[in-house]
Amino acid sequence: MINVERKPPAYPFSLAPLPFAYDALEPHIDAATMHVHHAKHHQSYITNLNAALKDYPQLHGFRIEELLLRLDTLPIAIRQTVHDQGGGHLQHQFFWSILKPRAGEAQPVGALAEAIDRDFGSFDAFKEKFVETGARHFASGWVFLAMIPATGKLEVFSRADHNTILPEKKYALLINDLWEHAYYLKYRNGRPEYLQSFWNIVNWEYVGQLYENAPLTKDRLTRAIKRFT
Ligand code: MN
Repeated sequence: MINVERKPPAYPFSLAPLPFAYDALEPHIDAATMHVHHAKHHQSYITNLNAALKDYPQLHGFRIEELLLRLDTLPIAIRQTVHDQGGGHLQHQFFWSILKPRAGEAQPVGALAEAIDRDFGSFDAFKEKFVETGARHFASGWVFLAMIPATGKLEVFSRADHNTILPEKKYALLINDLWEHAYYLKYRNGRPEYLQSFWNIVNWEYVGQLYENAPLTKDRLTRAIKRFT
């Protein structure tokens, strides 16, 4: 028996309730889309992930981030499934956390606002780049705002399907779902309109905290301080 320390949330993974009602993001994301997206799509990623891990008790103590970072050490039989379904679980879990009903004209403040101005020119220029990158992405995937630890700079880019940016060692601050299930009921083929509506439901306060509390930022800060002491 391998004795693994249980560090929940680990296997069996479970679907956390949304921190708001399914209709709370109306009219920007409709209640029917939110319901099927959370209770059906996200739930199915978790169900399939648990099914794949079921017969591998040595993997049951790991958080989803750890499993995704160790993909190349996982049994070949479940590697792709953990990548696809586990990636889907992690991305959706993060996605729900950065949404906020009636966020209206909220904007980033403080250190994050300064970093956005520094790296994109202005908040408006950042928003334009995020929407354009998401609109241009072919087929399913996600658009990201992330911090690059080596430089501390912010970048906007997209990744296909359920690829997370964990292996790239980039730190996600904000993501939006480009899969058709995220918008097709209301926006049909209007992905740019869906992306534009996203600015009404972003929890910038939380995203700002993520930026300020990024462990990688702290490491860089520690190194910077050490140089002067
Ligand atoms: Mn989705």
